[in-house]
Amino acid sequence: MALIVAKFGGTSVADTGRIERASQKIVQEVNTGHKVVVVVSAMSGVTNQLVDYCSKISPIHDVREYDAVVSSGEQVTAGLMAMALQKHGVIARSWLGWQIPIKTDLVHGKARIDSIETKELIKRLNGGEVAVVPGFQGVTDLNRVSTLGRGGSDTTAVALAAALNADRCDIYTDVDGVYTADPRIVPNARKINIIAYEEMLELASLGSKVLQTRSVEMGAKNGVPIQVLSSFGDEVGSALKGTLVTTEDKIVEQEVVTGIAHSVDEAKVTVVGVKDVPGVAARLFQPLAAAMVNVDMIVQNISSKGYTDMTFTVPHNELDLAVKTIKDNVDLSYKDLLVDENVAKVSVVGIGMRSHAGVANTMFKTLSEKNINIQVISTSEIKISVLIGDDYTELAVRSLHFAYGLEEG
Ligand code: ADP
Ligand code: ASP
Ligand code: MG
Repeated sequence: MALIVAKFGGTSVADTGRIERASQKIVQEVNTGHKVVVVVSAMSGVTNQLVDYCSKISPIHDVREYDAVVSSGEQVTAGLMAMALQKHGVIARSWLGWQIPIKTDLVHGKARIDSIETKELIKRLNGGEVAVVPGFQGVTDLNRVSTLGRGGSDTTAVALAAALNADRCDIYTDVDGVYTADPRIVPNARKINIIAYEEMLELASLGSKVLQTRSVEMGAKNGVPIQVLSSFGDEVGSALKGTLVTTEDKIVEQEVVTGIAHSVDEAKVTVVGVKDVPGVAARLFQPLAAAMVNVDMIVQNISSKGYTDMTFTVPHNELDLAVKTIKDNVDLSYKDLLVDENVAKVSVVGIGMRSHAGVANTMFKTLSEKNINIQVISTSEIKISVLIGDDYTELAVRSLHFAYGLEEG
């Protein structure tokens, strides 16, 4: 019999009816003899509402208090899930982050898990009890509640699976697996049965938010098999009908392109007319790094009369910080500072790219046929990303999906 960590996302616990439905899956797993730890998100919409409350009090607020507020959503669902399980005769108990404890670093709002104490949990699991853990939250060394960044319940689940040496981590959500593109954008996207950690890591970090990037990182590092599956269907995780995220060697037939990811969470910054001399990039990007701005795509334009432009992208919510840092802390003279928030990043991902040429060519040809202008390009061994105007996001994703033959059937 297996030890399973099962996580239910916001839509899967959106109301008490859904919580009961989710709890029945756990009852079924327990009745088959499996040991289960359940991780729950806040009811869908609740975290957004809590974030909104914080911004209404003050757009710039103390992140420790932000964590005190936004961590509360998961506490509610954990208690309700434990009650629902108890109602069906399962011995269940909720365990808040501080009670386990799930220790994190001090970076409130996007904390990383440092360690998880498992002794008591293991004792209880062995005694036939189900532990219900609110996702997204931990506790710092200073005894304050911390949160793991949006989508962080995935990471709680995989981290618990790693710490407990679980056989599998099931991520129940509102889709029945990982698809070749976001099914909300590409209706004929195909479900992927098995995908390598490395590819899932790229897809997640490039915008496929079906799994939080850190959860995939943690799964890969600790060899935790992760299954993405639907909480709405009749099957339980042990039926293995979802998408399995695992090591590359388990994949028999490797496609050249596995999937298309997109992100509209990008903003483009251009520093116009900087002197084209050694050290310019360092002088620009060092202060940005020190301010913890996540700079992504970077391009330096061709130089003209000794001057050049530097263009880069940052996440939307770090744009103000990036601009302020450039204005206040960058020791560089420039002619203008331009910002464009209406951009999107579209990426093609696939391990098969390592050994196949022509993937980039197909991408550029497809976008050019649709008259979509490419503003910035960046590549790695297994992905190619382009920055385009965000009005073209859906057209680009659908055209590329078709061009690489990824559709169903
Ligand atoms: P949860 O609340 O369960 O954590 P999320 O909304 O975080 O759910 O993640 C599920 C959503 O991820 C899906 O509804 C889907 O729109 C989106 N998604 C984006 N890219 C993909 C993809 N490649 N495959 C499946 N779902 C995707
Ligand atoms: N409730 C949190 C969020 O909405 C964490 C999660 O659901 O994974 O981001
Ligand atoms: Mg999620």
